[in-house]
Amino acid sequence: MPIRIALLFLLIASTRLRAAGPVYVVLWFDTEDYIEPAADDAALRIARDLTGLGIRATFKVVGEKALVLEERGRRDVVQALAQHDIGYHTNFHSVPPAPSVYLRDLGWVEGAAEFERREAAGALDVERIFGIRPSCYGQPGNSWAPQTLPALRRMGIPVYLDEGSQVGLDHQPFWYGGLLHIFNMGPYNMRAPLDGPEARQNSYAQFDRAAAELASHGGGVISIYYHPTEFVTTEFWDAVNFPGGVDRERSLWQRPRRRTEAESERCFAVLRSYAAHIKSVPGVRFVTARELAGLYGDPVPPRTSAADHARYAALLAGKQTFLNMEQGSLSAADLLLAALGMEPEVVDGPSARIAGTFRGDRISRAAFERAKADAVGFIRANRRLPAGIWIASDTLSIGDFAATLGADDGASPDIAIRRANLEFEKYISTDPKGAFSWPIHPAGFSAPELLELGRLQAWTLKPARLR
Ligand SMILES: [Zn+2]
Repeated sequence: MPIRIALLFLLIASTRLRAAGPVYVVLWFDTEDYIEPAADDAALRIARDLTGLGIRATFKVVGEKALVLEERGRRDVVQALAQHDIGYHTNFHSVPPAPSVYLRDLGWVEGAAEFERREAAGALDVERIFGIRPSCYGQPGNSWAPQTLPALRRMGIPVYLDEGSQVGLDHQPFWYGGLLHIFNMGPYNMRAPLDGPEARQNSYAQFDRAAAELASHGGGVISIYYHPTEFVTTEFWDAVNFPGGVDRERSLWQRPRRRTEAESERCFAVLRSYAAHIKSVPGVRFVTARELAGLYGDPVPPRTSAADHARYAALLAGKQTFLNMEQGSLSAADLLLAALGMEPEVVDGPSARIAGTFRGDRISRAAFERAKADAVGFIRANRRLPAGIWIASDTLSIGDFAATLGADDGASPDIAIRRANLEFEKYISTDPKGAFSWPIHPAGFSAPELLELGRLQAWTLKPARLR
């Protein structure tokens, strides 16, 4: 009897152990201050301290910063950072206009082209100087825009690593616009504060709680970020020079106020001990953005059977949102492609919202089959969902079309029109001012247009699942 009980306890304990998922910590540094040369030394110091601890971080480098490091002859900084992962953080960061400002009034296709025109050269500078293509991108401040996503795919950058409130999914990694997002991480975004009264123990305990919570739910990601410049200055380099989006000639740029050397040493020690503490927590592993891309795999879902297609189609009838399954997840766009019998691939959401002009309640089988073929043709040609589907000279919005397709039994002589219920839109912010709040944006800046484009792209939103 006691042996049986002991075996039972052993069984329970081993089940618990197996249930604890891996906790990955991505530690990243927005390496952006090209005005204060001491920020170069701060980046060097941080990179070397972390290398000394056996930890690899991700340095998201601004294009101009990479050029400045080259001009100042800082091979030592470049080489120390290149021991870690390298990401991209725009070409000029805060020199106006910032991305949200120049993209707000542009559409989907035009905006993506404009982002690429302005920012691709900086990514190439970072790649040339560091000898590796950036693994990730993140916007300066809150200067977010969804048109960046297709441009980043074309630039060969697979991960979006930053913080913001514009889009998010349960405070864990997600797929959106074909990029793996570590974004809007809520309680899983944290740091040990460099300043302020908060005791060091508080941030350690906060980390331990979050790690335990994630581990008990199958694992996940904790996101921690700093800026190297914070360790050597008491004010932000860009707030000093470009407040409210003003322009200032290069010759008039001012250096931010400095911390004393002793203060900087204290800050480096805060980071070093925090990182060492994290490393000591069982089941926790530091990863770079590039490693996360490998851990989460591919946004394209596996090919599915014809039986699955009918099941996926049925899901679109009631509401349009992502589907979470044991073996992976499908976005509403993935479901729609499957329902149309198409091969899975990364496509964008529609570039615009239309109400649709088709007023009937039913549509003939022949007309609907033509509409389906037309939808497939558009998606193949543009790698994007159409805003509407033609029914003779009238249109059905893409949402109404998906709902109607979902409810079609494939045999009736005519098909009842169903209306859209775009549930995925609830994952996009509805605060066009707060979501873009940043001292470098013009006062009162608001970008409902970018959030609306973001909602259209939520067709591609789905949770990212560890492989
Ligand atoms: Zn930044």
